[in-house]
Amino acid sequence: MNNSKIWLSSPHLGGTEYAFVQDAFSSNWIAPLGPNVDGFELDLEKYLGESVSVGALSAGTAAIHLGLILLGVSKNDEVLVQTHTHNASVNPIIYLGATPIFIDSELDTFNLCPEILEQAIVDRIKKGKKPKAIIAVHLYGMPYKIEAIRSVADKYEIPILEDSAEALGSNFKGQKCGTFGDIGILSFNGNKIITTSGGGAIVTKTKALKEKALFFATQARDVAPHFQHSEIGYNYRLSNICAGIGRGQMQVVDAHIEKRRAIHDFYVILFKNIEGVNVSEVPNADYYSNYWLTTIQIDPKITRGITRETLRLALDSENIESRPFWKPMHMQPVFEKFPYYGTQIAASLFENGLCLPSGSNLTEEEKNRISFVVKKIFSKQSV
Ligand SMILES: *Cc1c(COP(=O)(O)O)cnc(C)c1O
Repeated sequence: MNNSKIWLSSPHLGGTEYAFVQDAFSSNWIAPLGPNVDGFELDLEKYLGESVSVGALSAGTAAIHLGLILLGVSKNDEVLVQTHTHNASVNPIIYLGATPIFIDSELDTFNLCPEILEQAIVDRIKKGKKPKAIIAVHLYGMPYKIEAIRSVADKYEIPILEDSAEALGSNFKGQKCGTFGDIGILSFNGNKIITTSGGGAIVTKTKALKEKALFFATQARDVAPHFQHSEIGYNYRLSNICAGIGRGQMQVVDAHIEKRRAIHDFYVILFKNIEGVNVSEVPNADYYSNYWLTTIQIDPKITRGITRETLRLALDSENIESRPFWKPMHMQPVFEKFPYYGTQIAASLFENGLCLPSGSNLTEEEKNRISFVVKKIFSKQSV
């Protein structure tokens, strides 16, 4: 039996990427600017709608860094951030000398809990400092509670940085993720919905704000014939070669999301009759998830001792990659000294949560291999 590695989510090319890359070579646009960068930004603007502006950058992390700068975050400020996330949502807070304040998740979307968010804001203000920004994340492609988070943010007049790194193509009531925050960000890392082999984007409400982001992304050069600088800049622009890959990927983005959603359906059916395993689904029809990763929660009290580690190791022994949930940031050695608000919901999601192979290029044969392992592990469960 074929035992080649099944990845959680691997790059999936559509076929036209190489032609855009060849264009870059034949026209000598081997630079962090050029027709592919402009074309890719335009493709993303059209795709997201809402007349947003998009600036292509070298990484999603770079986009978060610049987004926080645009929102005015600087040294000693406090930034509220979902604890259940990738560390890239948090590191840029530290780059700026600011302090992350970690907020727990709710159980409908596993994302930022609006009630705890509000409690934290009230408490931080009482302690003498109003937080400067809120970072909300659509994890695994699942939109966070858009309306409740927005109403808390507006009540206290704190801007939202929307981390949509995993949620390209997801939407809430028909509006695309990435367009809800005061600033949005996307990632095109190798394992995301689309890839540029490495890249990201910042999404802004105005063209002026995009220009400001690109100013910081290109070494903060003042208008002058020589190199003149009044502010600290960064080198964060996307290569025109990589942007060519992105243009090709934009031609297949919706088709690939359909495939991921079909994989989610496959898992819903696979686990349907297995007691104690819950496949995460959107809370209601207002939410549309790209299901970047299908995730499950395993309750060992119901599965008679089968844990997410039991399943993970069984899959691993068949050369199938799966991964525990993001370990909450407030439990990470590097961040545990920072304030945390919540009731350890993210911790229990981490304890019992597993992300399953969900790449849009997953084959029928690979699905069969996954089914086989799942059925074998849970056959012992017999009721
Ligand atoms: C991938 C990811 C990022 C970082 O994006 P990069 O392009 O890898 O820098 C940020 N936030 C979340 C939630 C991510 O999954």
